[in-house]
Amino acid sequence: MKTTLFCNSRIIDPFGETEYIENGWILIEDDTIKGIGQGKAPEFSVDEKIDLDSKTVLPGIINCHTHLYSALAMGMPPPKNTPQNFVQKLQEIWWKLDLALDRESAKASFEAGLMECLKNGVTTVFDHHSSPNFAEGSLELLVDTANRFGQNISVAFETTDRNGEEFFKSGLIENIAVFKKFQSNKYVHPLIGLHASFTLSEKSLKYIHDQLKGLKNWGIHIHVAEDQADEKDARSKGYKSVIDRLNKFNLINEHSFIIHGIHSSNSDIELLKNANATLIHNPTSNANNRVGMLPNLHISTLHSGLGTDGMRANMLEEAQYGTLIRSSHLKDGEPTIDYLELLFKNNPQIASKHFARPIGHLSAGNQADLAIFDYTPRTSINKNNFGGHILFGLAEPVDVITRGKYRIKDRKFMTIPEAEIKQNARKQSVELWNKIQKI
Ligand SMILES: [Zn+2]
Repeated sequence: MKTTLFCNSRIIDPFGETEYIENGWILIEDDTIKGIGQGKAPEFSVDEKIDLDSKTVLPGIINCHTHLYSALAMGMPPPKNTPQNFVQKLQEIWWKLDLALDRESAKASFEAGLMECLKNGVTTVFDHHSSPNFAEGSLELLVDTANRFGQNISVAFETTDRNGEEFFKSGLIENIAVFKKFQSNKYVHPLIGLHASFTLSEKSLKYIHDQLKGLKNWGIHIHVAEDQADEKDARSKGYKSVIDRLNKFNLINEHSFIIHGIHSSNSDIELLKNANATLIHNPTSNANNRVGMLPNLHISTLHSGLGTDGMRANMLEEAQYGTLIRSSHLKDGEPTIDYLELLFKNNPQIASKHFARPIGHLSAGNQADLAIFDYTPRTSINKNNFGGHILFGLAEPVDVITRGKYRIKDRKFMTIPEAEIKQNARKQSVELWNKIQKI
């Protein structure tokens, strides 16, 4: 077991046991934090001692919902038909992109997407994947990629009826195969991915539940009530709501990962609370899709987590933009939401629950994931005001450590060929965009 002592650093762990240390040390053994303290470190006998030269250490950051499959969409030509509403956006853009993905373009998306996450200090990623023409082996490829990069990964494949029965089944089979294979893996959290209620029939929901019988501790990862169209569909089928519908098929439990929930009712939120399910908020995606804003009450009742829904890799930006988007909807004096609480309190709680061990804080027993910033503040920084510095001062980390090992040092990737991955992703992006034009 390798022991490393990091010393001479400012340590910020919002909502952690020790929130702020002006000058301190962190002791790591193998992939776990063993101790943290203020001032000069005790005389530990360690394999390596690293002087951080007053750099600022934060916990490795967690993204609770994203779509790495969209990593090659940046700069993509606009759709042939301009979408006029949310469902048309899915039909004209995202459902064409996912159909065009094959093994090579999916691999390039995973590599480029996860690399960008790491560059932004994001060390744990909950992904919701879709590549109907490359289902079998897709989630395992993502697991392999995340393992090579040293990131924790939660995987799920978007099961849906929208491409017919054969694709529906291949998606579900991939979910279940990967669930069985990686259920006990320390760094992997498999969930059962469903796209959304409105793209799954009554027969399909029953079939999904039947296939999960005999498995233990499974949870679904699904978009819920992102747009009114999802709620209308559930009501047209005789249910009170999407959550009511999923609940009637016994698909809601304490492992459920519910994404968006914008148009869910207060009684839906109560049902999710009683089930101890997880809700994830994605403010910039919601603003981009013009679908409305998750009510404050939903966030506070369920201690909602924060995700980017494929919009970006930088979670500090997501927190900052989330704050601004909410402010733009509020009147003078109305209460808002503390997005740093979502990012640094709720996300670690959610990751620790789902990966079943402490993740996301800088205290003994947590996985040794660190984002280290070379930050010289232009205003005074202390234990009472570090939040403002996180939101408005910090840029990209210079070093990123996961599982106790340097993955980025002095802005350079230590184990990943960055230039090669980007070159391949650029090549794959052109081929992918050409394929999309023909769908
Ligand atoms: Zn999503």
